[in-house]
Amino acid sequence: MEKLRYERPVIKKLETGMPNKFGLRTEYYPKTQIDGVSIKELIKEHGSPLFVISENTIRSTYQQAKRAFTTRYPKVQFAWSYKTNYLNAVCNVYHQEGSWAEVVSGFEYDKAIANGVNGKKIIFNGPDKSRNDLTKAIKNDSILHIDHLDELYTIIELADELNKKPRVAIRVNMDTGIYPMWDRFGFNYENGQAWDALNKIMRSGKMDLVGLHTHIGTFMLSPNAYSIATSKLVDLALGLQQKYNHEIHYLDLGGGFCSRNTLKGAYLPGDDTNPTFDDYAEAITTVLINSSFPQEKMPTLILETGRALIDDAGYLITSVIANKRLSGGKRATIIDAGVNIMFTSFWYEHKITPAQNFTHYSEDTVLYGPLCMNIDVIRESISLPLLNKGDQMVIHSVGAYNMTQWMQFITLRPKIVLIDMDERVHVIRDKETIEDIENQESTPDYLKKFNL
Ligand SMILES: *Cc1c(COP(=O)(O)O)cnc(C)c1O
Repeated sequence: MEKLRYERPVIKKLETGMPNKFGLRTEYYPKTQIDGVSIKELIKEHGSPLFVISENTIRSTYQQAKRAFTTRYPKVQFAWSYKTNYLNAVCNVYHQEGSWAEVVSGFEYDKAIANGVNGKKIIFNGPDKSRNDLTKAIKNDSILHIDHLDELYTIIELADELNKKPRVAIRVNMDTGIYPMWDRFGFNYENGQAWDALNKIMRSGKMDLVGLHTHIGTFMLSPNAYSIATSKLVDLALGLQQKYNHEIHYLDLGGGFCSRNTLKGAYLPGDDTNPTFDDYAEAITTVLINSSFPQEKMPTLILETGRALIDDAGYLITSVIANKRLSGGKRATIIDAGVNIMFTSFWYEHKITPAQNFTHYSEDTVLYGPLCMNIDVIRESISLPLLNKGDQMVIHSVGAYNMTQWMQFITLRPKIVLIDMDERVHVIRDKETIEDIENQESTPDYLKKFNL
């Protein structure tokens, strides 16, 4: 048996207002590998910090979500939310699983087309679709989710110009008991805007109204909000059936399901308290099953789930740069990953685990990133064992939004690797180089010289 390392006895301040006298649950095991691939090897090969994506977790999470819905409702279609993570390799795993593409800009639209997604299976959301974007999407028979009347009138014009009947839906916003309400997108249900837009579409006769869409918010802790949203969309669909004898093909409930992450300030870990796919599926499908659609005319349920599908599949491996004591005595550890690549540390208390064996003694620590900026804090307070310069730690559940909202600030963005189903490692985005960044710049001739 290996001799245990001596640890000096310590006196620890009690944490008040916590679930037990030791504070929140602490990690007792190091994370030394991801899907069978050693973290130390990954860092040696690819450098630090390093984003790692687990294909296995993507597929198994997707299967879990799909099972939760398809066991409760016969017609379900997922559409991958590109803005949540639009690395092509990641999008294509979802497309291989059968997911359509859900895009919110011309840039994302072009990405989906370049990935080989059939235009008919692209849902185009968002308030800013240029005339050019709309033209392209109409020609490809993509589905336009109309956000405002200005867009609606542009589509009518284009329908005439292109001599096509664009496939459209409207985005509906509504009161689901969650505040503040996301009423800046789409047409409001309660004040009649949504019904008005639907009538304008039907009376024009220029568009093929195929669905109804809503996206009520993100990280929604209440499944009941989805029940309310579903019943309001059902109400509009039945109204169309009654007034125009017009059938809606699908109801799209958007995204917004929670991942397993823990929101800042939450009392208990998200893993224990956040609703599951089954909870959301039950809330939505119960309303659909009980609705008065005729049996053969049940609409397809479309889901644009983003963060709940990808968060847990993403890891960020980071290395300790230094330890120090703040003026008040609190321990601070500086790591090589900052908020520029970890945008979600503003919202979540990410789970963080050391990547090597550690002592049992742990201490309340603030984790700083390397940016020369006061807001660069990855965790304000986390109980961590002693880590030395050069040690690694793993930040969990970073798959959603970090790799799309990251910014290049005072340094270059790191590599991203994907571990496939056979534990092979693929670089799916290379580390940036100074040339990548400066390619966009040009210096006027008269500014090229100076004497210092
Ligand atoms: C961002 C977005 C999604 C995905 O949202 P999540 O909260 O990540 O699930 C889905 N639909 C639309 C329209 C969006 O803007």
